[in-house]
Amino acid sequence: MMAGGMDMRMIQKFGGTSVQDALRLRRAGELAAKAVGDGWQTAVVVSAQGDTTDILLEKAETLTACPSLREKDQLLSAGEQISAALLAMELCRRGIPAQSLTGWQAGIHTTGTFGDADITHIDPEMILSLWNRGIVPVVAGFQGIEDGGSVTTLGRGGSDTTAAALAAALNADLCRIYTDVDGVYEEDPRLHANAARFTSIGYGQMLALAENGAQVLHPKCVRIAMEHGIPLEVCSTFTDTAGTRVGFL
Ligand code: ADP
Ligand code: ASP
Ligand code: MG
Repeated sequence: MMAGGMDMRMIQKFGGTSVQDALRLRRAGELAAKAVGDGWQTAVVVSAQGDTTDILLEKAETLTACPSLREKDQLLSAGEQISAALLAMELCRRGIPAQSLTGWQAGIHTTGTFGDADITHIDPEMILSLWNRGIVPVVAGFQGIEDGGSVTTLGRGGSDTTAAALAAALNADLCRIYTDVDGVYEEDPRLHANAARFTSIGYGQMLALAENGAQVLHPKCVRIAMEHGIPLEVCSTFTDTAGTRVGFL
């Protein structure tokens, strides 16, 4: 895996399985602490724990078949906020100063399309100010704020998009996506045990896989990374092996 250095910036994104309980949160904390120890200036993005998003959706559906789209986004955004606060606590417990941020606190502005909003721009001041004070920002993924001040969500799997967009806005050298498989495969490794894993893959091929439903990266994340030339690295939270590099081949 790519080593850090003076002024090297990284976004580390942890998916739902990677923060699903205290044990996993401790592992995510260990990986963020390691990045800091290796000299990276890191900002962390998290998904909701385990199946929290589905559980929240069920709660809404129990009440009404057609909930207000605004309130649905307000509800779902809570899942990522819980993970962010818990991971920030875990980092502080380790002696690493950290602060959790909601999407709007992190300056993530979006269109007003509730449930499938696009990021329009990011005001990076808050994150830069935390970095300047030696504090690791832990950002709730999958959410932003629209012009009217309402919370929006970015579509299922949208924390990947948050990570790539932050990497672009912060001129990061690397965006590392930690997940429950050890990289990108030609086919879903859970359904095809013999599928081959890529050591590296081009943005174009990755985008085609993502658009064909390979859940491992959200297509919007790949598009943003490609547009800004942000190298992505998809790796497992649970093993120390190198993952798959996504970039210009
Ligand atoms: P996270 O919660 O970390 O965002 P996801 O469930 O969204 O994780 O994405 C990881 C899952 O994507 C893997 O568990 C795997 O089953 C699935 N997947 C589908 N296609 C692929 C592929 N081509 N390569 C790797 N994983 C894939
Ligand atoms: N929690 C959201 C989802 O389940 C976003 C994400 O995990 O990236 O879709
Ligand atoms: Mg995902």
